[in-house]
Amino acid sequence: MSSPIIKHQLHWLTGQFHEPDKEAMYRRESEPRVRAESCLTLSVAALIFGMFAISDYYYIGPGTALYLLLVVRALVVVSCLTLAFVIRRRGGYARRIWLHALPLWILATGIILIIPLRPESLSTQVTSLVVAIMAFYLLIPNLLPIVATASLYLSVGFLVAAVMAADISAVVALRLLLLLVMANAVGFFALLRLEKLQRKQFALLQEERVQNHQLVEEIAHRKSLEKQLRMVAERDALTGLDSRLYFMQRAQELLAQSQRENTPFSLFMIDVDHFKAINDTWGHSQGDRVLTAIAGTCMKSLRPQDVIGRFGGEEFIVALPNTQPEDAQGVAERLKQQVAELSVIEAMPEHRLTVTIGIAGAATAETDLPALIKQADRALYAGKHDGRNRVVMQNPTMLKT
Ligand code: GH3
Ligand code: MG
Ligand code: MG
Repeated sequence: MSSPIIKHQLHWLTGQFHEPDKEAMYRRESEPRVRAESCLTLSVAALIFGMFAISDYYYIGPGTALYLLLVVRALVVVSCLTLAFVIRRRGGYARRIWLHALPLWILATGIILIIPLRPESLSTQVTSLVVAIMAFYLLIPNLLPIVATASLYLSVGFLVAAVMAADISAVVALRLLLLLVMANAVGFFALLRLEKLQRKQFALLQEERVQNHQLVEEIAHRKSLEKQLRMVAERDALTGLDSRLYFMQRAQELLAQSQRENTPFSLFMIDVDHFKAINDTWGHSQGDRVLTAIAGTCMKSLRPQDVIGRFGGEEFIVALPNTQPEDAQGVAERLKQQVAELSVIEAMPEHRLTVTIGIAGAATAETDLPALIKQADRALYAGKHDGRNRVVMQNPTMLKT
């Protein structure tokens, strides 16, 4: 189930992580569970310990020994319940580990103190002792070294008290010793296994979290790459207008929609006049400024539903859905006027830019986009031929040819 790498991260005797940071992280993660479980099991253990006062009365009857036993039991119960409450509120499993050890030592001391006060019931107490050792190891959540030392203290203390106060024979003492060794060994190895399993589970979970995090980062990276690629494919880098390919896609959709809904559709082909001369006279950077300024004017002047693309060097193309060619002519004239008002060339702000615009309109449902572009291009060519700086509309009769 676990990888050998994780196995090597754990100490063979304590089951803890070799790496202090990782161990601290594990304890912090398990802290809420440990607090709740410690509080519950300690409260139950304290109450059971207190309830044995009934058997005290049954075994020894009223007298000083009984009162002393009651005092011992009351002290153990009160301090364990107080500690259970404190652990529930502020039992830091990473730093205040002594707080978790304290109730074990108090319970162990209580159990040891019963022997001199009730020596005649030793056999019953041995059973309770084994149950207590198992509870130390397996029920009250604690670190293995803490439990092992508390349990060792309980076992040795019990054995010494039994020898001294209950006056047991050497054979009985040896049998008791063997029983304690066995109980401790079983408890120790069971808890060691548990400690290791819990930490392996934690380490696997951490690995999974890291992998998930890497996956999330990878997905985000790919998404951003995809976005960049889409930008490169869809946008013209200089002007920010649609690229020729993307324009064709969008215009195609708009034309198909117009034809489905039987609404008018117009197309502009815009070409900057004598643009080569601008480049040649003031340099390419000024030429670029002109292209960007004209693109900006198109974006500002046209409606949001119009699609504007850079068709080639100094040529722009516009699809105008829901627009009759006659209305498109007015729009083109306005655009031409706004371009003429631009002042772009730094060395010569009074230089007037001019554009020639060819217009085509979809006359029939069969007209396709390449045919429309060809028509607008023809109109543009006619405009150039007639002296530039003008708007030319393709003769509608020609559309049907
Ligand atoms: P006409 O009035 O007949 O349209 O003449 P024109 O000079 O505008 O057209 P021509 O096709 O002769 O020249 C277009 C020039 O545009 C040539 C090319 O070097 C330049 N050009 C193309 N793309 C860019 C660009 O991105 N930036 C710049 N600065 N120039 C470009
Ligand atoms: Mg051109
Ligand atoms: Mg030109």
